[in-house]
Amino acid sequence: MSLQASHDSIIQVRTLSMRLSGGGRTVTILDSINLDVPAGQFLAVVGPSGSGKSTLLGLIAGLDRPTSGSVELNGVDLGALSEDDLALLRGRLVGIVFQAYHLIPTLTALENVMVPLELTGGRDAEARGREWLKAVGLEERAGHYPAQLSGGEQQRVAIARAFACRPPILLADEPTGNLDQTTGRLVIELLMRIRREQGTTMVLVTHDADLASLADRVITLVDGRIARDQQGTPSP
Ligand code: ADP
Ligand code: MG
Repeated sequence: MSLQASHDSIIQVRTLSMRLSGGGRTVTILDSINLDVPAGQFLAVVGPSGSGKSTLLGLIAGLDRPTSGSVELNGVDLGALSEDDLALLRGRLVGIVFQAYHLIPTLTALENVMVPLELTGGRDAEARGREWLKAVGLEERAGHYPAQLSGGEQQRVAIARAFACRPPILLADEPTGNLDQTTGRLVIELLMRIRREQGTTMVLVTHDADLASLADRVITLVDGRIARDQQGTPSP
């Protein structure tokens, strides 16, 4: 499997649709989405609840298969991959941050950050895990379990885990949705700082207009379609 880029866009979405059938009717969740995300872009995805934002992010992550259309990451068509190859590609190319943190409760902060490092067979997983905890200001919490951490701290561990393998793409689905405004702002500043340092392409789903205004570009989903596509002021 080649991971070489064959397009200018690191994320290429073509006529992507997601429909669900049940009870004799079909619901269209995403309707023929086309989207190109250039490498290094910070793209915000906004829109009303139920407009398909999380579904789009899940398809870009290869966590779900579309009804029709395609997603290419770095020129690799996700639809052409087996589940194993998809997991491998995701491990190398994509970091994900969820609203509800999704840390493994039986592992310490350090062990959570080490999971992707160990899965990708990297050496020095523990030393690198500690470096990443330090980068998010939590080196002293290495031995703490998620239940012993605040929401903001858990999300910072999740961010360390998402960036640990230095993925070129970071996907975040309402990462501040469970946090108060001040903590949410800190989490976003952290995300933005690390992505700037790493040159990471970031797709951020958010309800927060202030947050979206920090992005290079904002797309608005309405009823599973891109209703607006605006270039913002470039991130510093
Ligand atoms: P958003 O993240 O913008 O709030 P979602 O992508 O989560 O929207 O969902 C879009 C629509 O698809 C919603 O109406 C939701 O109820 C529906 N939906 C999403 N996943 C499923 C599913 N597995 N089964 C049924 N409906 C779903
Ligand atoms: Mg959602």
